[in-house]
Amino acid sequence: MGFWMGKMLSEGMRGLERAAGAKQDLTPQLVAQVRDLEHQIARMMLLNQALWELVRERVGLTDQELEDMVREIDLRDGFPDGQITNTPVKCPQCGRVSASKHYRCLYCGLEFQKPTMG
Ligand SMILES: [Zn+2]
Repeated sequence: MGFWMGKMLSEGMRGLERAAGAKQDLTPQLVAQVRDLEHQIARMMLLNQALWELVRERVGLTDQELEDMVREIDLRDGFPDGQITNTPVKCPQCGRVSASKHYRCLYCGLEFQKPTMG
């Protein structure tokens, strides 16, 4: 789902760059792109809700556990801003770089502590 949305965004941006290069009025394309993004966000919200309700029902997790995990993931980049930011993080054990959206090093498996993620 993330890959698909990223592909849609980059295709939309390429269209806008072509229009800008041809000195066209970008307004209609921007309006269409915003409408597409709103549709994609609404679809992702629906899918997220369906997934959460399935997981909550079948695995027995609680809304509080979801909230706690959201807070933990939000803080991985050091900022409680309600979003995931992919900040490069250098692993203190092997020295290789991972994205802050991961809670452990992709190379050596070291689990990152919150201060490392900031
Ligand atoms: Zn490592």
